[in-house]
Amino acid sequence: MSEEFDALKTFIEASSKDMVELERILTAQKALAPESGGDGELAKLTVLENYLKENGITRLERFDAKDPRVSSGIRPNLVATIPGSRDDYAIWLCAHLDVVPTGAMKLWESDPWTVVEKDGKIYGRGVEDNQQGLVSSVFAALAFVKQHIIPEHTIKLLFMADEEFGSVYGMQYLVKEHLDLFGKEDRILIPDGGDAKGETIEIAEKNIFWLRFRTLGKQAHGSRPDQGRNAALAASELALKINGLEQVFNKRDSLFDPPYSTFQPTMHEANVSTVNIIPGEDVFYADCRINPCYTLDEVRAEVRSRVKEIETKYSVTIEVSEVQAESSLPTPQDAPVVRDLAEALKAVHGISARCVGIGGGTVGAYLRNKGFNCVVWSTLDEMAHQPNEYAVIANIIKDAETIAYMAARP
Ligand SMILES: [Zn+2]
Repeated sequence: MSEEFDALKTFIEASSKDMVELERILTAQKALAPESGGDGELAKLTVLENYLKENGITRLERFDAKDPRVSSGIRPNLVATIPGSRDDYAIWLCAHLDVVPTGAMKLWESDPWTVVEKDGKIYGRGVEDNQQGLVSSVFAALAFVKQHIIPEHTIKLLFMADEEFGSVYGMQYLVKEHLDLFGKEDRILIPDGGDAKGETIEIAEKNIFWLRFRTLGKQAHGSRPDQGRNAALAASELALKINGLEQVFNKRDSLFDPPYSTFQPTMHEANVSTVNIIPGEDVFYADCRINPCYTLDEVRAEVRSRVKEIETKYSVTIEVSEVQAESSLPTPQDAPVVRDLAEALKAVHGISARCVGIGGGTVGAYLRNKGFNCVVWSTLDEMAHQPNEYAVIANIIKDAETIAYMAARP
């Protein structure tokens, strides 16, 4: 094992130039979703597919979802298999191909679609989210291929579409139409989140509940509130009542930061255009992140009763709609994937890993809800979606070594 692993490590450590080159060709293909005015992932996937073939990763299978909004009509998903000598379990690395838009261009110091290498970092849109995880995974696999070493466990590289806008054409599609791809014993890693030391293993996510409240009252002159029903006033009290759910669903869970559930009023739509009008309509939103010990149905019931109270008190009607409602089962702390990853981090880098939960959503939720254990992990500075997004080259190498260790261990 150690001699083989040394050969894998040697290859990975000597590959930094090739890693940058792969980042460069991927970044040049703007894989933007139709929601952000883009044409999807196919061009980027084609470049990647060719790269894998040219480098000896040839067992490739496509699982494309139909989407008439993009010119090709498909949102591609690709699985690359590097067969292992045992057939006990596969190691999955799931990375997404799509990226988010650049945001304000004036904040970028270089062209976001042209990779710039500086001081051990690579800059560009997507270089971290999620190409860092993608490139680490590819080079872990290439280490076996190029060094002619058969991994102990089959490596499965999954490249997904549509992560940034809900994964309907990516992981959700795969879980719905091709669930047999995954095995219950498989070690599923999602290298799409983590910390700068690579010591946190994400095993749980808060339930995500986004609500829209449309309050309808009666418009009136600003001097005659008695003749109207002020929708903004009713909505203001409702916003406080929704926030007050933090005191009702108040159990703490130390996996998470913060450890409690949050119910926060966020976006507010424009209403009347002058100060002297009593608004007859008000629309606001709330972003709620709820610890997994509560079900969304429990929350729904409590929201409904508070909405009723406000409707009665202010003689308004309130329409509630759910913008997003995702609940996610946690992966147990003693699951094999958690144990194996923690062992690899210890053996290769001397890192003592710990388990955490997060408030955001990842594709892990869809797998966990189907009974597949998975973890989100990588070593990164959390530059996702920011201007001047970068990836640290040493982190790509480090994570590739960790992955290679998991595939090489008996
Ligand atoms: Zn991502």
